[in-house]
Order: sequence, then C-alpha cells, then structure tokens
Amino acid sequence: MKKKIFIGSGIILIAVIIVAALLFYPSIRFFTEKETVQVDHTLTLMLGGGGNSGIIIGDSAVVVIDTKMMGSSKDLYKLAKANAGLKPIIVVNTHYHSDHVNGNKYFKGDKIYIGNYNREFLQKNIEAENQPTDFVNDSLSINIGGEVIHLYNLGQAHTLNDLVVYLENHKVLFTGDLIFNHVNPVLKDESGARVTQWIKVLDIIINRWGNCTIVPGHGKVGGIEMAQSMRKYFVDMTTAAQYPTKEDQIKEKYKDWMKVLNMSSPEKTIKYIKMYETNK
Ligand SMILES: [Zn+2]
Repeated sequence: MKKKIFIGSGIILIAVIIVAALLFYPSIRFFTEKETVQVDHTLTLMLGGGGNSGIIIGDSAVVVIDTKMMGSSKDLYKLAKANAGLKPIIVVNTHYHSDHVNGNKYFKGDKIYIGNYNREFLQKNIEAENQPTDFVNDSLSINIGGEVIHLYNLGQAHTLNDLVVYLENHKVLFTGDLIFNHVNPVLKDESGARVTQWIKVLDIIINRWGNCTIVPGHGKVGGIEMAQSMRKYFVDMTTAAQYPTKEDQIKEKYKDWMKVLNMSSPEKTIKYIKMYETNK
C-alpha cells in the first residue's frame, strides 16, 4: 500500500515538474538564450541573456550598453574586451535592474554610467561588486571617434531614472526596459514604475526618435512601431482598469505577448494600474 502511494506521488511530482517546465520554458529561454548580431564593424548587438546589450567600437574607446546577468555577462565582457584591445571601455546601464547590471563586476576600473538614483537606493538594490560609478542627471554626450553616443535621462517610467542611449551616426536608440517588444512589461512599485509617466516618456521617444532603429530592453530589434504598441498596451490596460466589462476583450488583444515568469501579465498590469494609478 505504502509503495503504491509512493509511486503515485512520484508520478504526480514528475507531472508537476513537466507542467511547470513547459509553462516557464519561454521565460527561462527569455533570460538564458542569447543571439549576437554584428550590425557592422563598429556595432554589435547581444540580444537576450538578460537585457539586450550593445557594443560600440570607436577610434578612442568602446562603449558597452547593459551588462546582462549570469553566464551571459561574462560572454558580453569577453567580446567587449576582445574588441577593445587597449582602448578604454565605458559602460552604460539603462537602469538598475539585475538583468541589466549584473555583469558590471567584470568592468572593474571602467566608468559605469547610470541615471541619478540616489546612492542609498543603489546600494540597497545593486550588489557592491556591480555598483555604477557615475550618474547622468539630464544628458551626456560621449564622442568615441567615429560615433557620438548621447545618454538621456528620461526620468521616471519603468524605474525612477530610465536612460536611453542614442547612437548619432548609426541612428540607433537603445531604450532599455522602456520598451518590451511583445512582452508584458514588469511593473514594480519599489522600482518607481508609473504607467502615466511611462506613456509620456513613450511620447517623447515617438516624437524624437521616430525614424530610428530601436533596440528594446527585451525582445527583437525593430522600429518606432514598438514604442507605439507599448503605448497602446498601457492605454488599453488603463481602460481595462477603469471599465471592468472591457477587460476580457482587451486581454484577448494581447494574448500573444509573453508573460515573464510570475512577474508580468495583462492581469498584473491591470491590477497595478488599479492600485497605483487610478483614483488619483
Ligand atoms: Zn527592468
């Protein structure tokens, strides 16, 4: 009898593991799988393996945008170092989330820029070995010879200080997590995520960089239509939060957008808006 129960629970456990693995498989791939795209001899993109990253090779320095997480961080570092040779490396973190900063530790001694969060906040939220070194209040331009890289602090949206990085000659904009391409965005109150602000920031991106190639924080590279869909997503979710009868129909529109583990979904976005954005 005991043996039967034991076998029975073993089968249930295996079934649970299989179902969980199937459910989370896209999310696991989302954080582990990566693809390297050499755009030309001065620009390489490393997509996935955490947030999307870029390596820009100038005559006098190399710039690395976002340093990923886990094993992908080291691969990014190796590629950047191989391209840099003796040139200095400058790192930019679009924001403080771990999947964008966890490889900072490999760039010891290099300048690491981030938005102007206060020090205490960063010390609380980023491990000591991954702390950035320099802050961007408003904007900063870096000429690395052959490319001018502009950093703009667009303020509070996905977090309290979101930077975008614009490559003037390539006409490429790295938006960090201000854009998730066909992925439900992650919203956390402790990060300072605010949907109303986020919509305003997306308007700035749409107006200012409408003709550029966009590298989103997660998902494939594309054009400005990604910023427009992201904006539409937030407007729709706000409508769903205000008018519950429309919720099912709106959720149906975004059924193809990926959910990240238990961190993001249309339901979570609607709940978040109800909690932090409406009735104010
Ligand atoms: Zn993020």
